Order: sequence, then structure tokens, then C-alpha cells
Amino acid sequence: MEELDASRIVARQRDFFDSGATRDVGVREKHLKALARAIDGARSRILKAMKEDMGKPGWEAYIAEMGQSLSDLDRAARNVRSWARPRLVATPPYLFPASSWIYPEPLGVSLIIAPWNYPMGLAVAPLVGAVAAGDCAVVKPSEIAPATSAVLAAVLSETFDPAYVKAVEGGPEVARSLLEQRFDCIFYTGSARVGQLVMEAAAKNLTPVTLELGGKCPCIVEPDTDLRHTARRVAWGKFFNAGQTCISPDYLLVNSAAKQELITELAACVRRFYGDDPSKSPDYARMVSDAHFERVKALLDAGEVVTGGETDARSRFIAPTILDRVSPEDQVMQEEIFGPVLPVVEYGELEEAIAFVNERPRPLALYLFTRDRGKQARVLAETSSGGCCINDVMVHFSNSRLPFGGVGMSGFGKYHGRHSFDTFSNLKGVVRKSFLFDAYVRYPPYRNALKWTRKLLRYVF
Ligand code: NAD
Repeated sequence: MEELDASRIVARQRDFFDSGATRDVGVREKHLKALARAIDGARSRILKAMKEDMGKPGWEAYIAEMGQSLSDLDRAARNVRSWARPRLVATPPYLFPASSWIYPEPLGVSLIIAPWNYPMGLAVAPLVGAVAAGDCAVVKPSEIAPATSAVLAAVLSETFDPAYVKAVEGGPEVARSLLEQRFDCIFYTGSARVGQLVMEAAAKNLTPVTLELGGKCPCIVEPDTDLRHTARRVAWGKFFNAGQTCISPDYLLVNSAAKQELITELAACVRRFYGDDPSKSPDYARMVSDAHFERVKALLDAGEVVTGGETDARSRFIAPTILDRVSPEDQVMQEEIFGPVLPVVEYGELEEAIAFVNERPRPLALYLFTRDRGKQARVLAETSSGGCCINDVMVHFSNSRLPFGGVGMSGFGKYHGRHSFDTFSNLKGVVRKSFLFDAYVRYPPYRNALKWTRKLLRYVF
């Protein structure tokens, strides 16, 4: 039944795409603006749904999801005409007289599978790229945030003909039946385990995939930094959305000369942010599900609790927690935490911290706090990560001029702003020749062509 629906949905979208309707950049612009209006109009419904799904504080929901989606949509609507225009690039002299162009063309029908932690933002962000690029899209929101999934599906159906963009709600079984269809592009955000399944399914049709995955994002702190500022920024990033953020600083790697003071400052920040009893704070989210609550709670069983540690299963509350004296073998240092628990690992010299990072899978983001430009350059050059912030955490996500995405086990493919447009496009390389001149050396019989070509290639081009 589901399979039949999936094939019909995709077939309708393929017909719509083949009709050429989405080739019109004006149509894309109009729909990007309409989606922005619809999201803005549904503001209170969306914020309420996120509160229901995971107690997301209104400000966090607005800034990280609605505000981000609206600014992505506005920016894409403003720029889609210039992104879609053929781009002139240089032409090597041996092709003279000619010009070379990159012609962006839509890929076709795309599939977007979204996660639960930013259930609206991480569905809309890739969708902006798909619509701007002129693709049709099937969006599969996460079943683990059901209230937001329902509002998002309603907003999309108010804005788009389902043959253009359609949300298909449901869990893994729905995702699987969608993945059995042939798409022209798949954009997946979520865990590496499911990412592998997505890639396997995509391989059958050689469909290009973007995988936005997770991992453990390290946060290195050198003693020359401003520790009060550092603590405030780290605590904000770690406990935002109760740590359920793919680019949350997963663990601290702190120089032993700064460790004690940093821990004291962090504990003070937690009190300032959420009061003496964070379970009463309106600004602190909950674990999204019982399963995630149990998983994160089990991670508390390591090292020494400096602050936090309290839990309440009924409300899926886990207090903002700092763990000192953890060992790399503890479970909390083996898996992505994805919850409000900050383990602290100490190092002596910067090279130890760099080695610690490089011995592990390449992270989605790396954070470094130091005033020393030499150390900044060294860490950038000697480590690899999808993105990086120096002297802050997570904020690189909000600059849509920067490509966002992972590397290695944290995923591949980049998006945001024009990078999203490019991800959902085929960038067709085109050379336009003139009839003014022809280099006869390229045509048989070649005679002395090799001798002349070697000289020309070496000395002229
Ligand atoms: P998940 O893999 O459980 O689910 C993501 C999506 O995949 C959901 O829509 C779900 O329905 C679908 N899905 C689940 N099982 C499936 C299956 N067997 N076949 C096909 N589809 C299936 O991931 P999650 O728990 O929602 O997200 C958490 C992970 O996502 C973390 O690792 C986090 O770091 C990562 N993440 C990455 C980014 C990023 O931008 N790189 C953003 C958010 C989350």
C-alpha cells in the first residue's frame, strides 16, 4: 500500500518536472516567497509543536529553526536569478576562439529525509536549495517529532501543489518505501547507521546523495583564551536544545593550566542560565523520547559529576551536566552524546590535543579557543573537520555564505545558500566555439603534430 503510494507520488512529481514548470525561475522565486510567508504565518503553531515534541524554548526554536529558515528563504528568493544564470569561466588559449560556461540545470525529483532534533529547520534548509535549483521534492520529516512533522506537512501542502513539493510523514518503513523509488538526488540528515542504508538504496539507481551525519565534535581550550567568555559560549552551545544538536561541542579538550578555572566558570554559567533548579527553567529543553532519555542517562555513569547529574524519566529531563575525570574508554567518550552532558578531557601540550582529535573519526565541527594566531593556524592545518569555529561554537552554521557539511564519517556534500543551490543542480560544463579559426593540428593525419603539441603545451599554455 505504502509502496504503491510512494511510486505514485514520485511518478506525479516526475510528470510535473518533465512539464518544465520548475525551469521558470520566476516560479521558483514565487514559491520561495510563498513558503516564507506560510512559515511566518504558522509561527505560533510551529513553536507550539516544537514545545510539545521536546520542550524546545521559544527563542531557541525561533533562532535555530524558524528564523534560520526564513532568512534562507529570503536569501534564496533574492538570489535565485543570479544563481541560476550561466556562469562565465576562463577558457584556455588552445580552445581559442571560444567561451566557457557553467550552466546550472535542475536535477529532477529529489528526496529529503530529515531528523528530529531541528525537525523543521533541517527539512526546510535543503528544501530551499531544491526549490531554488528547480527540482521537485518529496520531504520525509522525522516521526520522532510528530507534532512538528504534522505542522510542516500542513504548511507545505498549503504552499505547493503535491506534484511539486510534498511531505510524506512516517517512520523508517515509509522512508524505506520512498528509497525504493528512483530519485535524481537524495539529501539525508541523521545518523551514520541510516546514512549507510540510504547510500545502499541510492546506489541501485546511481542517485547522487548528500549525507549530513553526526559524530563527536571536539572543543579545544588553550589557557591564553578569555575563560569567562569561553565558558559562556561553550555552555550555551552544549546545553542549547539540551545538547541535541549535531554541531554541539561534544567534549572539552582543555589544557591542564586552564582546566580548573574553566570548570568553575562553566558551572557558574549553568546556574546563571538555568537557575539553581534547571528543571524549572523555561529556557531548557527535554530529551525527545524515552529511548534517548535512557541512552543519555546511561552515559552519566562515568568520571565525576562536577555539576548536574539529576534526571527525571517522567518529564525526560536530564540536568546540564559536566563530567570530569572521564577516560577515553568510557561510553560517553565512545559515542556521540547528543544530550546535555559535557565530559572534560585534560591535555598538557597542544600537540596532544591535535593527536587526540586525529586518532578519531573526522568530526562535523571542531572548536578552538585561543588568542594565538599561530595556534589557530596550526590546528586548522593539522586537523580535518566539516567546519570550524575559532573562539565560538556552532555559529558557523548560521552564515549561509559558508558551505556546511561533514567530512569522512560525519558525511559528505555541502549546502547552505548558493552551496545548496549547487548541490541540487547539475552544473553542466559548456564550451561555445566560434567558426573563426580551427587548429588543424588536431585532425589526422597527425604527422608532426606530437612534436608541435608538446612544445606548445609546455611553452605557450
Ligand atoms: P535517524 O537516522 O534515526 O533518523 C533520521 C531520519 O531517517 C528520520 O526521518 C527517520 O525516519 C529516517 N530513518 C530512520 N531509520 C531509517 C531506516 N532504517 N531507513 C530509512 N530511513 C530511516 O537520525 P536521528 O536520530 O533523527 O538524528 C540523529 C543523528 O543525526 C545524530 O548523529 C546527529 O549528529 C545527526 N544530525 C546531523 C546533522 C547535520 O547537519 N550533519 C543535523 C542533525 C542531526
